[in-house]
Amino acid sequence: MTTLTLTFDNGPVPGATDAILDRLRDRGLLATFFVIGERLLDPAGRRLAERARAEGHWIGNHTLTHTKPFGEYEEPGHAAVEIGGAEALIGDLASPERFFRPVGRGQLGPHLLTPEARDHLIDHRYTLVTWNNVPRDWVEPQRDWLERAIDGMAASERNLIVLHDHCIVEMLDTLDAFLDRMAADGVEIVQAMPEECLPIRRGRVVLPIDGFVGDAAAPGA
Ligand SMILES: [Zn+2]
Repeated sequence: MTTLTLTFDNGPVPGATDAILDRLRDRGLLATFFVIGERLLDPAGRRLAERARAEGHWIGNHTLTHTKPFGEYEEPGHAAVEIGGAEALIGDLASPERFFRPVGRGQLGPHLLTPEARDHLIDHRYTLVTWNNVPRDWVEPQRDWLERAIDGMAASERNLIVLHDHCIVEMLDTLDAFLDRMAADGVEIVQAMPEECLPIRRGRVVLPIDGFVGDAAAPGA
């Protein structure tokens, strides 16, 4: 049976994350929200993350500021600021382990991590979460993500999709259409992450990661 893991990135966004939480609750689904740390400085953002956690969703770290992929940082110290800073704000909402998703602009590649970021993840026992289905819900016309997501299901029997709170809230009907299609196709929606998308697990490198780590001297090379 094909499984699908739902992840929502770049929140929490008041007016968006809450609507998605309502919809997931109505459908009895659990997901993971990869939050931008600084959004938790807004009490409304913090409350949404707390609500998500209380309703059984998982909260992951998606950097402090989401400024750019690590491969574009040249100055040292970016890992402690962007990963550690976000984790400090997430605090005890982190669960069930320290999930971290790098900024990637929808692409897997050596721009995702620097040697410094890789070492930070290992030293602080993070689980690195990638993906295998990015339907690019931010690209116009945005509703076309539905077909791209369905096509993307061919990538793996253990599918992990990346959606974005602030995009999807404008198209909850399309999210419904996608979830209905998954149900019709016999896809089981699970909260657990597929192992093929977890190259670092609680600080242990369990899959090859060289392709995700750029040369510090030549970012993105
Ligand atoms: Zn993002």
